[in-house]
Amino acid sequence: MGLATDRPGAMPSGSTLVAAVIGDPIAHSLSPRIHNAAFAALGLDWVFVALPVRDGHVTAAVDGARALGVRGLSVTMPHKHAVIDALDGLTSTAADLEAVNCIVRAPHDDALLLGDNTDGAGFLRGLRSEFDLDVAGLRCVVLGAGGAGRAVTHALGAAGASSVVVVNRNSERASIAAALAGVVGRPVAADDPEAVGAAVADADLLVNATPVGMSGVGAAGVGVAASAATPVPVSAMRPDLVVAELVYHPDRTPLMEAAAAVGAPTANGLSMLVHQAAVAFEHWTGAAAPLDAMFAAVRSSSG
Ligand code: NAP
Repeated sequence: MGLATDRPGAMPSGSTLVAAVIGDPIAHSLSPRIHNAAFAALGLDWVFVALPVRDGHVTAAVDGARALGVRGLSVTMPHKHAVIDALDGLTSTAADLEAVNCIVRAPHDDALLLGDNTDGAGFLRGLRSEFDLDVAGLRCVVLGAGGAGRAVTHALGAAGASSVVVVNRNSERASIAAALAGVVGRPVAADDPEAVGAAVADADLLVNATPVGMSGVGAAGVGVAASAATPVPVSAMRPDLVVAELVYHPDRTPLMEAAAAVGAPTANGLSMLVHQAAVAFEHWTGAAAPLDAMFAAVRSSSG
């Protein structure tokens, strides 16, 4: 691992190691802030940049990164699935999810690039740090079956949750996501209020993996300036229900407000965002991620 401790606050040099995120659009990405703060905190002579890569160009981008000796690569939309064909192997998590958000060099052969998906591991680490929560034996409800919902559902199943109910509007996607939890997974249609209500009433952990509650997103979809929408009725909140949002803008969503109003513990999606980056950082550098610096970097950007 390159060290920059002899060059405090130094500019990149001829020996600086490079990591990057590829996606489109990418200018909004918080990854450069998070990773550069982490490199600086540990005095590592690394730099992290965001590289726009258009649809259809991901294989060329990965081949370029391989040839240029890029040490770590994050992958975001729209390339998480398409990038698989450009890689030499996948972790079992990335293979199950058919989605990669982190590329690492194989430990036994630097020339080989492996794809991982750190979202689920980041989510579980976030639960531990926010709530001191181990999900083994817990009854869980995941709202949403997109990329984030699938990663969370897979992680909950692998970590020993006793049930994982996936609630989604599109029933095919709900079934695909629920299957990722194995035998404890079960799909529920979002337009079946009785079944949704029963699942939430029975749950220990509720995860919102839909964008409902995000600034600019309402129950009917995108286009609402400031949303007061919640993905399940406010009346479903209970003091003993742990509520984990994946949304992090705003800091406190209407769902979190409703849960907090009845005394339920809540957290937003910043912890998953930072912890999934921390897993990637540890893959690339071999160093323990400096979480305080990483959280400070995202909080200063959203504050
Ligand atoms: P995605 O792949 O586009 O999936 C979106 C999911 O939300 C789908 O299941 C979709 O249902 C559902 N959905 C969308 N609009 C809805 C609405 N108005 N009402 C009910 N359900 C709705 O997105 P994603 O990548 O999974 O991201 C989902 C959320 O998680 C976003 O807010 C994103 O910012 C957040 N996220 C956070 C992190 C983090 O690190 N904290 C990481 C990734 C994502 P259908 O299938 O029925 O269309």
